[in-house]
Amino acid sequence: MPKRFTPEEYAQGVLAGNRVLLSRAITLVESTLPSDQTLAHEVMELVLPHAGKSVRVGITGVPGVGKSTFIEAFGNYLLEQHGKKLAVLAIDPTSQRTGGSILGDKTRMETLAANPSAYIRPSPAGKTLGGVARSTRESILLCEAAGYDVIFVETVGVGQSETAVHEMVDFFLLLMLAGAGDELQGIKKGIMEMADAVAITKADGANLHPATSAQAEYQGALHLFPLGASKWSPRVTVCSAYDKTGLAPLWETVMDYVTLTQENGSFAQRRKDQNLHWLKHSIRQSLEERFYQHPFVQEQWEQMAQQVVQGQKSPFAAAEELLQGTK
Ligand code: GDP
Repeated sequence: MPKRFTPEEYAQGVLAGNRVLLSRAITLVESTLPSDQTLAHEVMELVLPHAGKSVRVGITGVPGVGKSTFIEAFGNYLLEQHGKKLAVLAIDPTSQRTGGSILGDKTRMETLAANPSAYIRPSPAGKTLGGVARSTRESILLCEAAGYDVIFVETVGVGQSETAVHEMVDFFLLLMLAGAGDELQGIKKGIMEMADAVAITKADGANLHPATSAQAEYQGALHLFPLGASKWSPRVTVCSAYDKTGLAPLWETVMDYVTLTQENGSFAQRRKDQNLHWLKHSIRQSLEERFYQHPFVQEQWEQMAQQVVQGQKSPFAAAEELLQGTK
């Protein structure tokens, strides 16, 4: 087992921007060991007053849309042109199914990873979406406390993870390909509605024209959605990670969004709503964990479940009986 530090040592290391201690602190919030969790809570409490000063950007799109290539190009652009410090986190609950990780493997984003102003952290493996989401949210705060002022949270546009990411970022960016139908791209209903911007990727060479047509088409589609509380009208841009084009307009879009929502108060409101969401989420998760770990439930579960499956007992009565037994 790796060495543990005191909460103060973790917090001081993180606040000093020490990447080794930042990584160790993230490992701690990812740990499921009860003693680590207690330690992690203490560390989080110390760093929390220093967190929050970043723009959190969620990035999603189906595998093959060009996410890693895009993040590398966009990330390098932010570092070089705007002097940003960037952390890239990933939410990839599919890794538990495939055993390997789609996101965050070491060969991706090599130039970005080599830059001392960038910090890239792969998705924790072998956890449920709820577990990954919780630790990623805490990792965002740790990275902010360590001085990263732009945070990317990357996810594969399949499954439920983009909803979780949407609940932890300020700005949600959907990457899409030109010429492939929504269904082909695995774009589920509801994802377009969550997007603050859509970027059509690979707008280069012969793909440039289809990309600009797709831009007009999607812009038309997005205008049909009513404006949300932020009063922001989502924009569609085109970009090429190969040609490094379209990156400045995209960052301008993010900055315009931040300016508008900070002025009208919805930026802060969204973060407050998200805090409340994660509070309720954590309570639900802890209650459920405690329930299933309770000796009475462990003892009765099989039999009760069988009775429900066979139709001998109603699910509601069984749930009530099990809950009573945990009192
Ligand atoms: P991911 O699965 O979404 O992370 O996608 P990748 O970044 O791995 O890219 C998928 C494929 O698209 C790779 O073969 C890339 O070389 C290619 N690709 C990525 N970005 C661009 C781009 O800007 N232009 C073109 N023409 N191809 C790209």
